[in-house]
Amino acid sequence: MITHNLGYPRIGAHRELKKANESYWAGKITAQELEQTAKNIRLNNWYLQKDAGIDIIPCNDFTFYDHVLDTCLMTGAIPARYHDLLVEKQLPQLDLQFAMARGFQKEGLDVTAMEMTKWFDTNYHYIVPEFAANQQFSLFSEKVISQYHEAKRAGFEAKPVILGPVSFLLLGKEKEKGFHRLQLLSKLLPVYLEVLRKLDELDAHYIQFDEPCLSLNLGQEERDAITSAYTTLQKAFPQLHFILASYFECYGENLQTVLQLPVQTLHLDLVRCPSQLEDILATNIRHTKLRLSLGVVDGRNIWKNDFDQSLALIRKAQEALSNERLLIAPSCSLLHVPCDLDLETDENNLPAVVKSWMAFAKQKLDEVKILADLAGNTPSVNALQSLKDNQAAMADRRTSSLIHRPAVVARTAAVSEDDARRTSAFPQRKQLQQEVLHLPKFPTTTIGSFPQTATVRSWRTKWKKGELTAAEYDTLIKEETAASVRWQESIGMDVLVHGEFERNDMVEYFGEQLEGFVFTQYGWVQSYGSRCVKPPVIVGDVARKAPMTVYYTQYAQSLTDKPVKGMLTGPVTILQWSFVRNDQPRATTCLQIALAIRDEVHDLEEAGIRVIQIDEPALREGLPLRHENWDNYLQSAVKAFRVASSGVTDKTQIHTHMCYAEFNDIFESIAALDADVITIETSRSQSELLEGFAHFKYPNDIGPGVYDIHSPRIPSEEEMVHLMEQAMAVIPAEQLWVNPDCGLKTRDWPETKAAVAAMVAAAKTLRSKV
Ligand code: GLN
Ligand code: ZN
Repeated sequence: MITHNLGYPRIGAHRELKKANESYWAGKITAQELEQTAKNIRLNNWYLQKDAGIDIIPCNDFTFYDHVLDTCLMTGAIPARYHDLLVEKQLPQLDLQFAMARGFQKEGLDVTAMEMTKWFDTNYHYIVPEFAANQQFSLFSEKVISQYHEAKRAGFEAKPVILGPVSFLLLGKEKEKGFHRLQLLSKLLPVYLEVLRKLDELDAHYIQFDEPCLSLNLGQEERDAITSAYTTLQKAFPQLHFILASYFECYGENLQTVLQLPVQTLHLDLVRCPSQLEDILATNIRHTKLRLSLGVVDGRNIWKNDFDQSLALIRKAQEALSNERLLIAPSCSLLHVPCDLDLETDENNLPAVVKSWMAFAKQKLDEVKILADLAGNTPSVNALQSLKDNQAAMADRRTSSLIHRPAVVARTAAVSEDDARRTSAFPQRKQLQQEVLHLPKFPTTTIGSFPQTATVRSWRTKWKKGELTAAEYDTLIKEETAASVRWQESIGMDVLVHGEFERNDMVEYFGEQLEGFVFTQYGWVQSYGSRCVKPPVIVGDVARKAPMTVYYTQYAQSLTDKPVKGMLTGPVTILQWSFVRNDQPRATTCLQIALAIRDEVHDLEEAGIRVIQIDEPALREGLPLRHENWDNYLQSAVKAFRVASSGVTDKTQIHTHMCYAEFNDIFESIAALDADVITIETSRSQSELLEGFAHFKYPNDIGPGVYDIHSPRIPSEEEMVHLMEQAMAVIPAEQLWVNPDCGLKTRDWPETKAAVAAMVAAAKTLRSKV
């Protein structure tokens, strides 16, 4: 059986690309040196895949920044604002793509970057293509051809991976009114035809077209676009072998369309949607020539494949189709998993047993190969041994006392409706809270973090290296906290925060203190451009060992009579930003985390903390790709938040915070969280968002962010007063709080002090007006 891979991580096992890109941007290395690093990564990846025995290996999956940006360059979809760079400055393509991704501010020019957004339900961000009404396309970057050629010269017959024309258009945005981007398809296809012509001239055989939009709920027009695109492309090049790939979800209602396409191979994500295999086999597929690529190895998670489970799927396919018509593959590109588990050697971080349950990109290639071997007519001795080892690892994981905590399971199962409900309704709570808090109208607060300066971060590094004792580190953090409390008091802030100086990251900080989490040393995954993240791994039942935040919160509260707000990360966000276990539903894990947070909330209350914020910035991004799955997700997310937050008395005020919020389609769920106060990011689309809150008659208190913390710009008191007055036009003044739109950890102190002082002054002005 043939094996293939959809894409390999491009950052390098030691984040070579990140380092080279950043050095190049800083002017420390030349373009040639950067190109050389890139070339080494590509070669290394090809060798590695070949050595693993993968039959069809991808090329053009490498990019300096982003594959959607590459497609803009391939098709010449370069927004007009970059034309000066191209024509007058004669910027080389390498620099042009960085200018598009990051903006260009030098030599008297100031051109903004293109927008960036999340790639489906991953934490990878792509550059959003921009289309004009009179959009023209022409082959501009020939990277796909040169990378195919490069592979060939190095002795690899690779499969170019190309973002398909329909997904490319759908992932973009119209920058003008009066047209729909899909109407550009007929203008776009000639570029794809030219690319295919050039690849064909070089004797390419397989072409992988990624059309991940097929995992979304599409309309008939979009499906027709798919049909027309692939009919055109295949008609022109019947000699090429098209592999059409979608992933992350079922094909759903797009399945019939897809099965009728004139493509040779169809890829199925059988990890996210195992059931679609049966649906497909039930069609007349037997009587066609279509091959199926069985994506059985999870490209989105770090767990070892369960061979028995995968083999069951493969065998089902074999009953209907001959081996020649089946390919074995990962479920999607391996871009979303770290490179190499072999690098993890620190047992303190990652116990050997847990490591024995895991597989990163390199190990997943081996799994693909072994599965193909096992499913063949005469499995090799090695493969049979691997199967035994795999079964042992699976059995071990199923029962290991290292991760299974019966008490947690029992407690999670016993969660009742009452556990997810505050004692009284919001109006009563508000009154009781006011008796404790004595807040003025338009109370002021911040979102939690204050500047994580290089100095603060250096203390943590030194402490971890042993250059500072725990006591010395503690003293420094306390001094920074005390200074922040004194400053907040001095400007007249109503609800203070301690500043989160002790936290490296809002998820990792909790993960490190919870049972059920492990951490990797090199488990980096690309987030965008040169930015990589190293998500914590939830491996087992989650339990809180001891209070996690009480110490510094209580310390800050001891310094002032004003309320200090306790600061926690919510269960949905902790789940969303981690690699999660795949041996139980996400909702169950989420509820376990919720119970741990609930205990923390309780302990904060016991310690005299009167206001507690539970951040859920990732609540919206956790939404499933297909609408039919939204209700389930939202119900469990709301439940988790309510379980985390409802263990307190009416007098304790619960806040939540969300950013990048497009709320209108999930409004009822936001209201169902029943937080006493929600602070939200509104700086970009204030009016639209607030109208939404007004339209739905949001019942509890709201703090619309009055200034954008993502920029160093200091807002004036007047503009913040003005924004609040706009808010008051649609939301009753009694419901309104005044706060920035997110945490301030990325800012410096001078701008933070000036901006926050102006914000408090704005609140005072508002009070004097009403
Ligand atoms: N409390 C966090 C902070 O202020 C919230 C961060 C976020 O919304 N992403 O940093
Ligand atoms: Zn935020």
